[in-house]
Amino acid sequence: MKTSVSELVTAERESTEIPEAADSLFAMAVNVMNHAADVLGLDNYIRSILSQPKNSIIVNFPVQMDDGNYEIVRGFRIQHNNALGPYKGGIRYHEDVALDDVRALALWMTLKCSLAGVPFGGAKGGVKVNPRERSRDEMCRITRRFTSALGTNIGPDYDIPAPDVGTNAQTMVWIMDTYMNTTAGLARQLPLNVVTGKTLECGGSLGREKATGQGVVYVCEEMLPAMGITLKGARVALQGYGNVGSHTAMLLHDLGAKIVGVMDHTGAIVEENGLDAHKLAEYVAQAGGVADFKEATAVDWDAFYAVETDVFIPAALEKMITADIAKCIQTKVIVEAANGPTDAPAEPILSERGIEILPAILCNSGGVTVSYFEWVQNKNNETWVLEDVDRRLRRYVAEMCARVRKTRREFNCDMRTSAYVVALQRIGDVYKQRGIFP
Ligand code: NAD
Repeated sequence: MKTSVSELVTAERESTEIPEAADSLFAMAVNVMNHAADVLGLDNYIRSILSQPKNSIIVNFPVQMDDGNYEIVRGFRIQHNNALGPYKGGIRYHEDVALDDVRALALWMTLKCSLAGVPFGGAKGGVKVNPRERSRDEMCRITRRFTSALGTNIGPDYDIPAPDVGTNAQTMVWIMDTYMNTTAGLARQLPLNVVTGKTLECGGSLGREKATGQGVVYVCEEMLPAMGITLKGARVALQGYGNVGSHTAMLLHDLGAKIVGVMDHTGAIVEENGLDAHKLAEYVAQAGGVADFKEATAVDWDAFYAVETDVFIPAALEKMITADIAKCIQTKVIVEAANGPTDAPAEPILSERGIEILPAILCNSGGVTVSYFEWVQNKNNETWVLEDVDRRLRRYVAEMCARVRKTRREFNCDMRTSAYVVALQRIGDVYKQRGIFP
């Protein structure tokens, strides 16, 4: 993690280039968006606006580590678009975080907020650090320095971060506290809603921790019956067992689905009769991964993908369903809980094999929807009961799924295109009504 000045200069040059490489995640995201824009007949100027983020912020800051040494840490915040409302999006801590990925994730946030019908634009942030290799104190100092480096680039009515891979409610509370003690504190303001996904004690919402998984499950309930799949008894496998994967699995387990396979960064496990998702979540919280869970059989990745399932749920990182996996995976529907899990070359292979894909901007919008509920509760000094949060989320998901189904029929397209068309339609209407300043 020690970085020399020359390495930093090189990294800066590389990371600020507009990606044109064929494997660029941002290019992949823009291509998919442009296809939907073609189907919709979206005006070119709106497409051009959405093909670049509005603001790209890169910060490099020193942090003293536990051994007394100083290290330079790099962080990003991409503010993609705010036509629909304040920028909104998670902050990711991962050793491979790069500008290109964060740009793609920010674009997807713009589309997701539009599709979900919440009044936010899209953003994403990231810090290039492996939180598993850092102490809690180091993560606290990194988070506080990152927040102070962002300064007024975040704010409760301007840009509101939330948790993502490698971050959690504690991270959000550190960001909130730092923001209150620096930027907002100077104006004697204490806005709890500068971040969402906080702990309950510090202004978080009931139901936020499980919200993304809950949203995935509501989408399954809305969309799968028409594909001939009933959740009770359905065979399900998951890739990733962090916040999103574990909550999705536990909720599906409670609805009678069989969790027959799980894999994460530590390995893969299968259990033909279905494993206990709650016990597995408890185990992962202690052990850090699924690999040695005793109530299932450890297998290699080939054997994991060969397990026959009705529903396969990627809930880890981007581009994890490659063309090779698309050729061998034995499932009926891929429910994208992770952002961008299906690599572009995999998509036509899956389609040819008759495997349906429910796209990420549809499946994982439960997180940002309940983040919106948290933001509203903070603004109004309210606390909603869990039943209220769940009931509202279910209504948002049902309306969103109905729009996607109707648009699919109208444009005779796949689910991904349909979800993007719904999202682009709303943004397009807003641009046309607001016009372009001046
Ligand atoms: P997390 O850090 O809690 O969990 C990530 C999981 O991915 C872990 O189980 C980890 O083991 C697994 N993983 C990492 N690298 C892997 C690899 N190489 N192979 C297999 N597994 C690997 O993150 P999360 O919050 O659950 O996010 C998961 C996905 O959901 C991400 O794409 C994220 O952007 C998306 N998402 C999260 C939220 C949220 O509210 N947390 C909301 C919307 C979308």
